[in-house]
Amino acid sequence: MSLPKPLPPGSTIGILGGGQLGRMTALAAARLGYRCVIFAPEDHVVAAEVAAGHVRGAYDDTAALAGFAAQVDVITYEFENVPEAAVAECLRHKPVRPGVRPLHLAQHRLREKAFFRGLGIGTADYQPIANAADVAAATALPGILKTCTEGYDGKGQARVSGRAELATAWEKLGRRECVLEALVDFQCEISAIVARGLDGATRCFPIGLNHHRDGILRTTIVPSGLPAGSLATAERFGVELANGLELVGLVALEMFVTKDGRVLANEMAPRPHNSGHWTIDACATSQFEQLVRAICGLPLGPIETMAASRMENLIGDEADGWARYLADPTARLHLYGKGDARPGRKMGHVTYVLPSAAGRRSTT
Ligand code: AMP
Repeated sequence: MSLPKPLPPGSTIGILGGGQLGRMTALAAARLGYRCVIFAPEDHVVAAEVAAGHVRGAYDDTAALAGFAAQVDVITYEFENVPEAAVAECLRHKPVRPGVRPLHLAQHRLREKAFFRGLGIGTADYQPIANAADVAAATALPGILKTCTEGYDGKGQARVSGRAELATAWEKLGRRECVLEALVDFQCEISAIVARGLDGATRCFPIGLNHHRDGILRTTIVPSGLPAGSLATAERFGVELANGLELVGLVALEMFVTKDGRVLANEMAPRPHNSGHWTIDACATSQFEQLVRAICGLPLGPIETMAASRMENLIGDEADGWARYLADPTARLHLYGKGDARPGRKMGHVTYVLPSAAGRRSTT
């Protein structure tokens, strides 16, 4: 079967979701001569501020979705909690890349973990917690109880040391369907971001070393400095995941490296990822451009690191320090144009580019 023709520059990309990931995708798309139209229900949509158009509608408004699809040539999404039905509706009109299945899996922690295991990708021990009997029989302790759906940035989860705490935590989470994951005694957290093109070609960006605080990503460092064996495993898991999903687009796989050197998958996101923001300033192709290339059927771009880098998220009022970052010659500042600097809200990021490593050809 021949592949669909590439969508040439001048075509229009539809993006479901209007946050900073959509904004940075639209900026990368514009650089290559593509237009973007954003579909998002909110009034203030930071992606729409840099895009050709904004369709304001609810995700269950089929007429609005059809109107949006009519304006674009291909559709992608920038957050994984877009309702599956909205994506299915878009698919009736235009190609959606990466499609419904990656979303279906990423939206449910149990489905996601079972899928990882099926591909031979290791995870922490885990158990479904759907009723009181599951609580009483739980053994993956101490552990972290997580809701199966709608958790992000550490929300919808609780650390529990034993069954009594587990019972209380499950009540607090509204007795929802949960997964109990054994607590991983990790050495560090890393992520692989893999692009897969329309032709099935894959490219894994250099692995990022990630630090979280209060469940939110704070920094990503590349190169990670991890041993080659761990990096190769992480990259293999990422590529197997992208192939297993038959993905066209990007997938980020967050992983733990245990103190004894094993690599275990935590979760995936079939979209650009916060831990890949460094690629804008320190990689030959940014993750956002790579997404545009993949979904438009273009060849994937090179992924050499151009410099060592450390990306720091600017959360809440940290973005108020913009003048300081601008004055630092090693800092590349990115602000998302969000109005209200609420605590915990990602307002921007800064990537420190370390020139000593400029020009190095490293993939991990
Ligand atoms: P998540 O929402 O699953 O990405 O979890 C947010 C953060 O909580 C992770 O980045 C880890 O720092 C921590 N965490 C999540 N699951 C585990 C686990 N099973 N063991 C240890 N730490 C975890």
